[in-house]
Amino acid sequence: MISHAREPSFRESVDLMFNRAVALMDISPGLQEKIRICNATYTVRFGVRLRGDIHTFTGYRSVHSEHMEPVKGGIRYSLGVNQDEVEALAALMTYKCALVETPFGGSKGGLCIDPRQYEEDELERITRRFAYELAKRDLIHPSQNVPAPDMGTGEREMAWIADQYARMNTTDINAKACVTGKPAHAGGIQGRIEATGRGVEYALQEFFRHPQDVARAGLSGTLDGKRVIIQGLGNVGYHAAKFLSEDDGCRITAVIEHDGALLSDKGLDIEAVRHWIMQNGGVKGYADATHVEDGASVLEHECDILIPAALEGVIHLGNAARIKAPLIIEAANGPVTAGADAILREKGCVIIPDMYANAGGVTVSYFEWVKNLSHIRFGRMQRRQEESRHELLINELERLSRDRELGWTLSPGFKQKYLRGAGELELVRSGLDDTMRGAYQAMQEVWHERGDVDDLRTAAYLVSIGRVAAAYRAKGL
Ligand code: GLU
Repeated sequence: MISHAREPSFRESVDLMFNRAVALMDISPGLQEKIRICNATYTVRFGVRLRGDIHTFTGYRSVHSEHMEPVKGGIRYSLGVNQDEVEALAALMTYKCALVETPFGGSKGGLCIDPRQYEEDELERITRRFAYELAKRDLIHPSQNVPAPDMGTGEREMAWIADQYARMNTTDINAKACVTGKPAHAGGIQGRIEATGRGVEYALQEFFRHPQDVARAGLSGTLDGKRVIIQGLGNVGYHAAKFLSEDDGCRITAVIEHDGALLSDKGLDIEAVRHWIMQNGGVKGYADATHVEDGASVLEHECDILIPAALEGVIHLGNAARIKAPLIIEAANGPVTAGADAILREKGCVIIPDMYANAGGVTVSYFEWVKNLSHIRFGRMQRRQEESRHELLINELERLSRDRELGWTLSPGFKQKYLRGAGELELVRSGLDDTMRGAYQAMQEVWHERGDVDDLRTAAYLVSIGRVAAAYRAKGL
């Protein structure tokens, strides 16, 4: 029985999915192997003097594919970090970047640490030392390898990394482009924190623009009123849940966290739940919902859309058959194992795959990197010019109405909106929305037009492997 089979490791799981897709392509076995394997993984053990003694930490930076450089991918701080995991995540970065057309190869890093066990100044020293070890081997570098936040890291760590690199490379005018996800005052970009969650929202909006795709999941209509279960209310899950409930009319009927789940048929107030978690460290005790101790069991509850937004491997051979959601969108990396994927496909569940669904982060990282290299904020040159051209048109319309006594009046809301030139945040969101629409359509074309592709994950792999293969061929490989 399949449920007794050995579950492959995360990296094996990614390779199995890759193999399934590449078998449908006309790519030589040698090139298949070149694309699939991880080019290099650097392991570093370094000591930091803390609390009167030397503490040794283990960190990794894995480079999966250098068909384009720099390579890109986050740095994760977690006790679960190991070589298999960073290599799987680096491979996913290669496919993700190819799918959303960010001009990067794939990489990933990790530090085996529980950041909650350390004071801020201790974390800064650990981060700076890790950054030093990576930077001196060009594993942090604006044109070679550009890290970003991931689980357990955020703007604060990225600012330390950027500063550490700048101290080591005092004459590098592009030093700020050595890492993305920095705070606004340290060369960051508006909209990067929300980007992955916002991308999940744009991905779902695009999916629901295609009624035939929605029907394949056994659903109909729009996002409005859809029941959503979300696992993990970290940066990605929180923003996805917030935007889906506030902008799209979704009802968040369950939030799953490390200390259980909250259920509410009428829909949870995401801001209030997030605030509660910040204050209390978990969901337990939150008043306006039912608490369930066994959070993982809630993945199996009835809903329209299930959003795993935490760890890899949460939907596995042991629970896949009991998952009732007709539509899963993978906000996390690798939340569904290869075995579970097969079971869910068999059941007719539609899965919007990680390499597409959570690509909003790296997409906006790309914008940040371009901003750093161009040394100018998006919109700075055009904004007022755009506004003055709009004003010209409005003035002319109002003059015509007056001169010809037409009695036209533009509603103040329209006038205000139309006159406002786009700032950096609007431009970032527009670029992200366009990217998510374009990538979906590329996957969809393969999904619909090829008789041998019946799921979006395989379609996504086909698109990205095709692009990586083209890049290798163009290099003469
Ligand atoms: N860590 C994020 C991811 O898994 C973002 C990577 C990036 O921005 O480079 O996609």
